[in-house]
Amino acid sequence: MNIDVKSIIGNEGAKIPISGKVDVFESNLAASLKLSGKVYNFSGSINIDADVDCDIETICDRCLVPVKTKLPFSISEVVGENEVSLHGTILDMGDIAEKNFYSALPMKFLCHEDCKGLCPICGTNLNEKNCDCKHDIIDERLAALKKLLK
Ligand SMILES: [Zn+2]
Ligand SMILES: [Zn+2]
Repeated sequence: MNIDVKSIIGNEGAKIPISGKVDVFESNLAASLKLSGKVYNFSGSINIDADVDCDIETICDRCLVPVKTKLPFSISEVVGENEVSLHGTILDMGDIAEKNFYSALPMKFLCHEDCKGLCPICGTNLNEKNCDCKHDIIDERLAALKKLLK
C-alpha cells in the first residue's frame, strides 16, 4: 500500500486520504487490517493519522481451537527523515501499518480467559471433558531427578 507524498511535501495543510487493506500472515495467525485516515503536512512535517479496523484469525494458545477476534488500533506518527518506510516520496503505508499492528498485538490469544487447555498427556481438550490421566507425572519425574542428585 504505497502513498506518494510528493504533493504534500512543502505544502502546509495539504493532505492525502488513506484508505485500503493490508493483510498480515504469520505462523498460526492471519490478520486483515482496514485502514482509514490521512497523511498530512503539519508545520512542514509529514504526519500520519489512521484508524485500523483489524480482524484476526488465530488459535487459542492453550487448547488450539480457532479463535476469531478484533483488535482495533490507531496509527499516529510523524514521518521522520530517516523513516525506513519512506522510499523517495513513496510512503509504504502497509509497512507502517504492520509495525503498528505488531506493537498492538498481545503476547497470546485465548479462546476464553479461563481456558483449561489440553491435557499434556492424552491431548484431551479439558474445556470439553476431563480425562483420567495422572497429572502429577511431572512431579514424579522431579522426584526421580532428586533421587539421582542425592
Ligand atoms: Zn482455549
Ligand atoms: Zn489426559
